[in-house]
Amino acid sequence: VGVVTDWSALIRDIPDYPKPGILFKDITPLLADHAAFTQVVDELADGLVFDKVVGIEARGFILAAPVAYRSGAGFVPVRKAGKLPAATLEASYDLEYGSATIEVHADAFAPGERVLIVDDVLATGGTAEATVELVRRAGAEVTAVSFLMELSFLSGRDRLPGLEVRALLSV
Ligand code: 5GP
Repeated sequence: VGVVTDWSALIRDIPDYPKPGILFKDITPLLADHAAFTQVVDELADGLVFDKVVGIEARGFILAAPVAYRSGAGFVPVRKAGKLPAATLEASYDLEYGSATIEVHADAFAPGERVLIVDDVLATGGTAEATVELVRRAGAEVTAVSFLMELSFLSGRDRLPGLEVRALLSV
């Protein structure tokens, strides 16, 4: 059992990034702090049962890969369109800023595998909703969706009905 760190101060607000009017939550100071990083990796997965961890490009990769390593689970990337080399399934959605298409390899999961989806920030929920859809279309089962931080005023969790949605920090 490690020392419990209050890591919330290690997420900083960057005004007007990537566009005017957006207050961006920058997690890089948290990632640079070993005690905080390892603690949040543990908390993202604590008590959850899963066979594979899905990380959403790009910051989700940074969190999901150590969750998979720690848990003895496999890692599966969900990527922006055009980045995955083999046959993919794709889903399009609207973002807090702009729109996007994401993909997963069609053969990423065995039928019925249990999947934990990990990303850094839950904002409008569009990215996570599209990822849930991709995982299900690929034949797996989503057991939970874990985030470092939730922007609760955007009500993103309303787009993930019936799922266990974990946010380590809610603002
Ligand atoms: P959503 O689809 O929920 O609106 O947006 C979530 C996605 O956009 C996540 O993949 C997340 O990485 C990114 N995102 C949106 N707002 C922020 C933010 O303020 N900080 C960070 N780090 N990522 C954000």
